[in-house]
Amino acid sequence: MTFEATCCCKQISITVSGKPEMNSVCNCTNCKQRTGSAFGISTYFKTDAVLNKSGDTKIYKLWHKEQNHEQNRHFCTQCGITLYWTISTMPHLIGVAGGCFSDSEVLEPTHTLNNSSKCQWVSFPSNWQVQE
Ligand SMILES: [Zn+2]
Ligand SMILES: [Zn+2]
Repeated sequence: MTFEATCCCKQISITVSGKPEMNSVCNCTNCKQRTGSAFGISTYFKTDAVLNKSGDTKIYKLWHKEQNHEQNRHFCTQCGITLYWTISTMPHLIGVAGGCFSDSEVLEPTHTLNNSSKCQWVSFPSNWQVQE
């Protein structure tokens, strides 16, 4: 099974194979700002599961204080969407913005993070793991 994630303008894409190593919803302030939504979906694959990357990206560095790691975030030079990133504490993984798989399949997350920052009106399926 392969999955392709794309930015809004389709200039950049990333194609991965297999199942994610981790697929989580993060409720922190930064993920809200990154996505412009109530939470971010972070879908992590092994770096060797990446089949293809295309298009021009720029990178900005972010210290994710809630997660205590640094991220290198790759975003589209045209539409600005952050499509994928690497994190300092898990160099063997690549994070992909889960909602950007919307042309193929947005995979259901298995757990939620930073629930103390969760919007009051959001609730998640009861079978998901909750990690404060
Ligand atoms: Zn774009
Ligand atoms: Zn977050």
